[in-house]
Amino acid sequence: MQILDGKIVAESIKNYFEQQINNLKTKPNIAVLGIKGDDASDVYIKRIEKNCDKYGIEFNLMMAETEEQFKENFEAIKNDESITGIMFQQPLSKEISNLINEIPSNKDIEGLSNANMGKLFIGEKDAIAPCTSKAVIEVFDYYNIDLTGKKVVVVGRSNIVGKPLIPQLLQKNATVTICHSKTKNLKDETRNADVVIMAIGKAKFLKKEDIKDGAILIDVGINFENGKIVGDIDFEDVKEKASMCTPVPGGIGTITNAILIRNIIESCEKI
Ligand code: NDP
Repeated sequence: MQILDGKIVAESIKNYFEQQINNLKTKPNIAVLGIKGDDASDVYIKRIEKNCDKYGIEFNLMMAETEEQFKENFEAIKNDESITGIMFQQPLSKEISNLINEIPSNKDIEGLSNANMGKLFIGEKDAIAPCTSKAVIEVFDYYNIDLTGKKVVVVGRSNIVGKPLIPQLLQKNATVTICHSKTKNLKDETRNADVVIMAIGKAKFLKKEDIKDGAILIDVGINFENGKIVGDIDFEDVKEKASMCTPVPGGIGTITNAILIRNIIESCEKI
């Protein structure tokens, strides 16, 4: 089985950053808004800040104590021309999350607003796709995997992975099936698939008996098992049967981080 190495794909994206940033008229300057109190999200934010530092991107962290304060912070920056990109840090209530639709679509660096999702579905070129879904597409592009006519089964229908993959896979002429927790006979779907994309958050869920010989597997899942990070695919179990698979760690997550930086740079180019 060939390992589809996320680090190599991420490097191929990062290779352009220096030149892209040098060509910018203004320095990228992002605002990250959240509400204090979630340790996991603090770790994620620190990683983004470190990456921004590395590439000379201004990083403004605005962590509120309350929802009211979040709204005030958002009001203060949403029309600020010096801010080139805005992102919200989950967890947030539905009401607060919906404020994302007030971000100008070219500053929505995570591609999560209704406007960007709509543009993605109708195939507009300036759509910003949610980073993780785009990371999956980058794997197919980097490894020249032609999806034309292939049966691609996506397991998971979230707004950040499964749903935005639909238009992007259709764009690649795949025949797309989306599965979820209410899907009947899930294994029949995955067993008939040329490509399976797993994004459910269940450790080592997909086994060799769930796939066909030579299947191409993409693992989006991030799970913790006995202190180790594992994906939704049982990598050791499938490796004699699948033809290709992304590892966890070192797969989609690594590429996702690079895509966010690329979105930050590209949204600054559009200003
Ligand atoms: P969500 O919890 O939002 O969605 C999970 C999806 O999986 C839902 O559609 C759910 O179905 C489906 N599902 C859950 N259990 C089953 C099951 N037993 N059989 C079939 N479908 C099932 O998760 P996310 O999309 O946010 O994340 C998915 C995974 O990807 C997580 O492990 C997360 O950590 C990881 N992730 C990785 C990223 C990366 O950069 N690599 C970035 C973001 C997420 P239903 O809709 O019916 O409830």
